Amino acid sequence: MDNKEIIQILKLTASLLKLYGENQFKVRSYQTAVYNLERNAQKLIELGEKQLAELPGVGKSIAATIREISQTGVSSTLDNLLKQTPKGILELLKVKGVGARKIKTVWDQLGVETAEELLSAATRGELAELSGFGKKTQDKIQQIISFYLSNKHLIHYKDADLLGLNLEQQIKLQFPDARWSRAGSFRRKVEVVGSLDYVWASDSVGEAEDFLDSMQGLDKNLQLSGPLRWRGEFRDNSELLDVRFCNLLEFGTKLLYYTGNMEHLSLTNEQGKSLREVLEQSHSDESTIYSEMGWPVIIPELREGLYENEFLRGQKMENILVTEDLKGILHNHSTYSDGKHSLEEMARACNDLGYEYLGISDHSQTAVYANGLNEEKVLEQHREIDRLNQELTPFKIFKGIESDILSDGSLDYPEPILHTFDFVVASVHSNLNMDIDKATERLLRAVKNPNTTVLGHPTGRLLLKREGYPIDHQKVIDACAVHGVVIELNANPWRLDLDWRWVHYAVEKGVKISINPDAHEKVTLKDVYYGVCVARKTGLTKVMTFNAMNLEEMNHYLSTRKSKSSLHSNV
Ligand SMILES: [Zn+2]
Ligand SMILES: [Zn+2]
Repeated sequence: MDNKEIIQILKLTASLLKLYGENQFKVRSYQTAVYNLERNAQKLIELGEKQLAELPGVGKSIAATIREISQTGVSSTLDNLLKQTPKGILELLKVKGVGARKIKTVWDQLGVETAEELLSAATRGELAELSGFGKKTQDKIQQIISFYLSNKHLIHYKDADLLGLNLEQQIKLQFPDARWSRAGSFRRKVEVVGSLDYVWASDSVGEAEDFLDSMQGLDKNLQLSGPLRWRGEFRDNSELLDVRFCNLLEFGTKLLYYTGNMEHLSLTNEQGKSLREVLEQSHSDESTIYSEMGWPVIIPELREGLYENEFLRGQKMENILVTEDLKGILHNHSTYSDGKHSLEEMARACNDLGYEYLGISDHSQTAVYANGLNEEKVLEQHREIDRLNQELTPFKIFKGIESDILSDGSLDYPEPILHTFDFVVASVHSNLNMDIDKATERLLRAVKNPNTTVLGHPTGRLLLKREGYPIDHQKVIDACAVHGVVIELNANPWRLDLDWRWVHYAVEKGVKISINPDAHEKVTLKDVYYGVCVARKTGLTKVMTFNAMNLEEMNHYLSTRKSKSSLHSNV
């Protein structure tokens, strides 16, 4: 049992205790333990009860619970709570933004036990009547639950990618010579996908099907499967798997067709012939289909029917960004705020990955929940950075901060402190309930601040979990262009914010894009990959990618920008 699973049990226990109105100190003790354990790098199952109790945020009683979980795989406290709780209520507890107490009220007073029932009750206006709710809360809950239900069966790309890699490894072992490929939005690396699609060419479809039938962790759906199609679910979380079989001679045709998307297939060449028409004949390779169109092979990510034409008329597909083009990564956290690994560990890990620099940008002082840095801590961190930079040279740590954009759009430190940073990522983390005018105004003010280097995760969305606050993308991007502010494409797979559909517009306006992992631990430094995946969908090039600059260029850029900003602020 790994830390993640143990923390999951504690987290659920906290939600259920809250649901059943347990005293708030008990609930908080679980929440504090979860917060601290998520940032703890030691293996919990290897620790004794005494050592556990000494961990920050973990008291005696939770240490005993962790021990029980390590030894038996379950927690009796949680088991008792689960016995009294319907499945639908557990599901509702996972939805961000409703809250355990409100769920208990609708359960007790309206008999609501599922997300669907909650939505109906809200639609009928029954929630507004309950004490402590009102019309505004009802509308909010209705919006949250509609969003949840419409996304319920989607998978975010990183989860799909990891599941896919696992499956593919087993296919490779069993059928080393087979020709197969990912297909659909999964192959196009869309940020959320409905299913893991594959096209598999085989002369003996029966064998391939038998293999999938007998695979551990997969359940075939007989109704949805057919003679050349295997559909089913991954047992753990019911993600859908959809495999289409074909013969080798038509592999290219089927793959291109099932990769899509529809707009891409409708593209026509100069002679007016569409891809769809070429697909009427069988091709064993995609490349011959594209060459019949007089085109180079279009990378799957780009096949959205949006920007392909630019790459068919002059722009080179090879110029599209790849992960190796990134020379450093900005926007990362450490144990100074809410990260799991120390500044030194993060820097060394980044160096080991072959990058030339790391931008550290812990949370600013207002972000108390994330242990944001007060002025003293900022200076302490800067001293440590100076020391590490001497040790690690030529690798460099840039002194940054993820400054909260306060409700009025200002940044989170006085000018003299802001001037001590090499760069500032400005992001919104609080008061997310804003209308489009207010949210846009808030961002615009931050963008106009001469201390802002990068605008962080512009909408605050969490894919499948929380809609972002609405913003006028065009206005915000235009302002970034005017004020020389870089926009982040936050590569945390839950965010991928700025949405890739706006990247092209930003680039057109001359705004550079920074692909930032927002890593809170060493392993997620690698999440830049997911940012690159979606950036490639827009044809983003190395030239327009901020952190594709090498150390020398970044040094030059940041120092020039900084001297300009202090000039501005002193006027
Ligand atoms: Zn942030
Ligand atoms: Zn961050």
